[in-house]
Amino acid sequence: MFSLEGKVAIVTGASRGIGRAIALAFASQGADVALCARTESALDQVAAEVRELGREALVQVVDVRDAASAEAAIASTVETLGRLDILVNNAGITRDTLLMRMKDDDWEDVLATNLTGPFYFTRAAARIMLKQRGGRVLNISSVVGLMGNVGQANYAASKAGIIGVTKSLARELGPRGVTVNAIAPGFITTDMTSGLKDEHQSRLRDAIPLGAFGEPEDVAAAACFLASDAARYVTGQVIQVDGGMRL
Ligand code: NAP
Repeated sequence: MFSLEGKVAIVTGASRGIGRAIALAFASQGADVALCARTESALDQVAAEVRELGREALVQVVDVRDAASAEAAIASTVETLGRLDILVNNAGITRDTLLMRMKDDDWEDVLATNLTGPFYFTRAAARIMLKQRGGRVLNISSVVGLMGNVGQANYAASKAGIIGVTKSLARELGPRGVTVNAIAPGFITTDMTSGLKDEHQSRLRDAIPLGAFGEPEDVAAAACFLASDAARYVTGQVIQVDGGMRL
């Protein structure tokens, strides 16, 4: 039902965690995938896993904070894989600290990676999608963008910002068949969350109705739906994948 046969996707932050899971899920649904991040060795491993699933993989060493690199990544995806149907803006970072300790760099790095990066990639991808009158843009936000969180003013700003971008572009690109949606994961087990203290983790788990943290594959399943033809009439939405953390 969620077949991606014959489609080409580009996934940022595909070297590990949620991005890797999305790339592999897309490949298992039949898509060829361009994989973007800064660490080539990790991307090479994911590319090998994509190829084991019988699909093509393109490794692109890209810093999403750089507009020219984003343009080049989109152009070489089309050149090498032949087309572009799906963009997943997933690359993201945290620089958590309380407001009074937050440095300018903590603010700027998070906004540049989590919000400006998706802007660069979406602008470049939309040029192609508008011309072909179809495409899918998926932005990985966070429940923190909906609820806020102590020590994450920078991260919450970026993740709330991407929801505003999602809704605006759903209106702007919808008339030409391009859907734009966001996924807001709750607590997902990845490198990003592995540093949290046990005590903090158990408090968080208590606040989740399903009583457990999510896995990257849980987010990937929602991404497959939104990227597929089954979601052709869904746009401007924020799908929470959070075990009921925010109701
Ligand atoms: P992760 O394991 O830390 O992976 C982050 C990915 O982003 C890596 O592939 C990383 O690769 C890439 N990346 C970071 N900065 C980049 C840059 N400047 N240019 C290109 N790539 C960059 O994190 P994750 O947990 O999978 O998170 C993925 C997304 O989900 C993020 O947007 C995050 O905010 C969001 N999210 C996560 C959770 C969670 O609980 N884990 C919850 C809600 C939302 P390199 O370091 O090699 O560049």
